[in-house]
Amino acid sequence: MNNSNIKKVAILGSTGSIGTQTLEVIKDNPSLFRAFMLTAHSNAYLLISQAIAFLPEYVIICDETKHQEIKKALAHLPIKVLAGYHEIKDMVSHPDIDIVLTAMVGFAGLEPTINAIKAGKDIALANKETLVVAGELVTGLAKKHNVKILPVDSEHSAIFQCLAGEEDNRIEKIIITASGGPFRGKTTDFLTNVTREQALKHPNWVMGAKITIDSASLMNKGLEVIEAKWLFDLRTDQIDVIVHPQSIIHSMVQFEDGSIKAQMGLPDMKLPIQYALTYPGRVKTNFKRFNFVEYPNLSFEKPDTATFRNLKLAYEALDKGGNMPCIINAANEVAVAAFLSNTTGFLAMSDIIETCMQQIVFIERPSLTDYLNTDKETRIFAQNLIQQMPLKALQF
Ligand code: NDP
Ligand code: MG
Repeated sequence: MNNSNIKKVAILGSTGSIGTQTLEVIKDNPSLFRAFMLTAHSNAYLLISQAIAFLPEYVIICDETKHQEIKKALAHLPIKVLAGYHEIKDMVSHPDIDIVLTAMVGFAGLEPTINAIKAGKDIALANKETLVVAGELVTGLAKKHNVKILPVDSEHSAIFQCLAGEEDNRIEKIIITASGGPFRGKTTDFLTNVTREQALKHPNWVMGAKITIDSASLMNKGLEVIEAKWLFDLRTDQIDVIVHPQSIIHSMVQFEDGSIKAQMGLPDMKLPIQYALTYPGRVKTNFKRFNFVEYPNLSFEKPDTATFRNLKLAYEALDKGGNMPCIINAANEVAVAAFLSNTTGFLAMSDIIETCMQQIVFIERPSLTDYLNTDKETRIFAQNLIQQMPLKALQF
């Protein structure tokens, strides 16, 4: 393969869990991929070492106070160093980029993803919040600009893999698997007193802090239900969630003849990352192989939505449509940040989200500006709510 066939990848959020694993995939496949652009929020140290190791054309740091430090550290290398979120939004449309892997966390992923789509770039989408907030707008733009949105989220990659070759066949439903997180089987009483440290201990996956808390509260599954609706063009009643604590079946598709296809493997995000980058092909890996004999009991149970209310709230938001998923996303981001800083309790996160759903102005057909305003308004409202909450709601 000559150089022109090497895919140039822009990694938005290269210093995070997905970002660093994407760089490992690139490192393992130098004849296929090149890191063209790396971005971070404020982790200058890691961004500098990634830049030295991968020699991208561009690095961008959001935090402008780190600009000079990075410029100085990379001055001896032919790397352009930019700073500010606006640079990420602009530079994703660079003509040399082949694919943009969106691994930044939260609402911040929305505008760069939209700009990349408008510039005709394929998207390897890890940042599920983009589709949660503005799924209709983003998938509509992708269609218009003829770009692919390739899922990186393991459940959606599983469904995407199950659908390969089934383009003309009707889906009856999809079954998204959930590990259940560290608090599976626990009661409301128990959850009243859990700490951030307990919530950050995921049984099967090592991930960034925000998604780890989302996994513990089942909000991650709620966000994934919404993400799946937009990725696979489904009705809400076609999306089931089942708890599968071993995380071996990554998700399933049931077709109209009743046949179910599952995609399986040991939990390792590098596989869905690589598949999004090599799609429609596959490339050999040395990842550890799954052995059925070591897992004689793959088990399944119904999610407990009475205790873990976020999943139910996400279904409600999806049914309601409009800016409601944007509201739950913003409320959740604020609630999770507060839980991580010990300023709200685990169960109070659902109360915050539910109150925002009731109080923020509903917009049936939001524009991008409406989404940006809804996000801002919800964040302010949720912050105030947390400040007004009685101390007894701060269970930690
Ligand atoms: P991390 O918190 O580990 O990493 C987030 C990355 O985004 C970092 O590079 C961070 O920079 C950067 N970042 C954070 N906030 C901003 C911002 N406001 N503007 C620009 N950049 C920002 O997250 P994960 O890698 O765990 O998750 C990334 C996305 O992928 C999330 O949307 C998550 O839901 C999704 N995902 C993650 C999975 C996983 O296994 N981790 C699995 C499936 C989906 P810095 O390091 O400087 O703070
Ligand atoms: Mg997932």
